[in-house]
Amino acid sequence: MLSPRDLARYSRQMLVKNIGYKGQMKLAESKVAIVGCGATGSFMANLLARMGVGYIRLIDRDIVELSNLHRTNLLDEEDVEKAKPKSVACREKILRINSSIRVEAVIDRLSKQNAEKLLVGVDLILDGTDNVETRLLINDLAVKHGIPWIYVGVERWYGVVMPIIPGETACYRCIIDKPPERRGNACEYLGVINPAVALTTSIAASLALRILLSEKVEGAMYIIDAWRNEVNKIKIVRNPRCPACVLNRYDYLEGETVSGASVICGSNQVEILPPKQLRLELENLRGLNEVRVLKFNKYVALIQFQDLELMLFNNGRAIVTNTIDREKALRGYEKLLEKLKREGVIRR
Ligand SMILES: [Zn+2]
Repeated sequence: MLSPRDLARYSRQMLVKNIGYKGQMKLAESKVAIVGCGATGSFMANLLARMGVGYIRLIDRDIVELSNLHRTNLLDEEDVEKAKPKSVACREKILRINSSIRVEAVIDRLSKQNAEKLLVGVDLILDGTDNVETRLLINDLAVKHGIPWIYVGVERWYGVVMPIIPGETACYRCIIDKPPERRGNACEYLGVINPAVALTTSIAASLALRILLSEKVEGAMYIIDAWRNEVNKIKIVRNPRCPACVLNRYDYLEGETVSGASVICGSNQVEILPPKQLRLELENLRGLNEVRVLKFNKYVALIQFQDLELMLFNNGRAIVTNTIDREKALRGYEKLLEKLKREGVIRR
């Protein structure tokens, strides 16, 4: 049942004949996960929250930085100042926009280990990520469990959107079999303009609305040019030998786990996953010798340790900034963990 407040809030949307009361109720009962809360993720979260999607799970591994603000419509300078995790900052804004829905913020990287726990059970997954590896993982999970998802990518003034309905349309792996080969740290970041984000995510949100209303969407890729303002729609057919949607082989979900340190593409950062999930009392970092705390909140601390600068999250995950030297980052991180164990920052 929609409350009188909801009836008022969604009155203009419910006038649209394809939605009505029934459609609005359907949205209220829907669960959506958004992986990545940067440019595309935050725009989609904003639109879906205002639309009245009843439950939104936001998953992001990073904190808000000043260089993010030009291409988002949910994050602001205060989030940068307080070093808020993106998912937490987006959740706070969304609840100010629509307090009648439920929003959950997850501060973590989507990985093989947590993908099923975080994504199984939702009605739709939206791609707010910026890399092929994570998309291949989402695709494997979505195809395996029959969950629709929408691939969304933006670069410079271009955007790409492709809805994937398992069992009906082509999947992501029908068109992309593996991550691009990289030589050293050749991840090139080409920049982006915000109209490309707005146009692309609007198309994705429209497809999301139709999928949540159980309307049929066709297998197609939308190519958006936000400079010339052109949208092209290309029909995509299934690859008869697709490892995922035809052969049911989920290499990116079920393959061997790669742990340790990895360079974050397009940045000067190395991400380190702890050998097992930890619980850190970040406020106990203050006053430790050799550790300089630059900023901290209950989720993350920005610290300097020896010659490393890093973001240390309360589950033990770390992003070492200003380096792409994985060995150095990992060595420093291991030393830091030993110290934190000795000093009682890590809870048993
Ligand atoms: Zn496929």
